[in-house]
Amino acid sequence: RAKATHGVQLCRYEYGMDEVARKRRQMANDLRDAIAVDGLSLAYQVQRSLDSGEVTGYEALARWQHPIDGWIAPQDFISVAEESGCIIELGECVLRRACREAASWPEPHRVAVNLSPVQLTRPSLATTLAEILLETGLPPSRLELEITETALIADKTSALHILRQIKAMGVSIAIDDFGTGYSSLETLHSFPFDKIKIDRSFVLESEKSEQARAIIRAVIALGSTIGMPVLAEGVETEAQLDMLRSEGCSEAQGYLLGRPSLEGPSESKPSEIIRTAIQRG
Ligand code: C2E
Ligand code: MG
Ligand code: MG
Ligand code: MG
Repeated sequence: RAKATHGVQLCRYEYGMDEVARKRRQMANDLRDAIAVDGLSLAYQVQRSLDSGEVTGYEALARWQHPIDGWIAPQDFISVAEESGCIIELGECVLRRACREAASWPEPHRVAVNLSPVQLTRPSLATTLAEILLETGLPPSRLELEITETALIADKTSALHILRQIKAMGVSIAIDDFGTGYSSLETLHSFPFDKIKIDRSFVLESEKSEQARAIIRAVIALGSTIGMPVLAEGVETEAQLDMLRSEGCSEAQGYLLGRPSLEGPSESKPSEIIRTAIQRG
């Protein structure tokens, strides 16, 4: 297989690729096993209104503890699931669990669930979702789905059709990681979003970069023009929180307000401190 001149390097390269592929196949198999026994967990991260300081909802984030390798980052196992196709089962598991758990929370907070672009290519998504809502008893108004811009590229017409069906059920839809993907004003205009989630990279840069602040300001202005609330993700400092509030951002999420927690709805900071920080000004 190897070319004569660079034989050794090519062999090693191919061996390396095989090894990577083998590991990913193994991970996909282990993930399938975990899904089959409902072995994934969900961590919840609080979202708060910047007007009132009230909790507006919790984002559900998938967590997987591999029997040998320990906790694996979602970035890693979600991409393996998407590649191997088991993201459909994984996504359904996450949805069912999030709806079931949210239905039993003491407060009727909204739960936000991430959808993979692959899930949005399945015409059966809306039916599955309807079954899950019925089965868990969660009112549709308490569910929000987060999708990224990439989800809308593959087959725009069919994705739009599925999203409209979902919205018609009373479930809301947020555009996630806004500003990092393939954004166009046309996308915002033609899809029935209820919320824009501005990517945490802009919040991270905002203290140092006037340009990042300008982008945040522009997204908030855009949101207010088209009537979509804007949530800023990745808020870690009080300075960022102050800036977002003074720019008129509607909601925030981030380590300052609460880390994702496996204990269910919870906040890592004394909520009074945060509430005063939010209500100041
Ligand atoms: P995302 O939907 O943008 O989720 C937010 C990520 O930012 C989470 O990482 C969260 O822990 C992290 N984060 C929140 N606040 C802060 C902060 O203040 N600072 C920093 N540095 N990070 C913060 P996580 O849980 O590792 O998830 C990463 C990504 O994996 C998610 O990004 C989402 O795209 C994907 N993901 C997670 N769960 C699911 C799922 O159930 N289904 C699908 N399809 N994707 C999922
Ligand atoms: Mg998200
Ligand atoms: Mg996000
Ligand atoms: Mg993100």
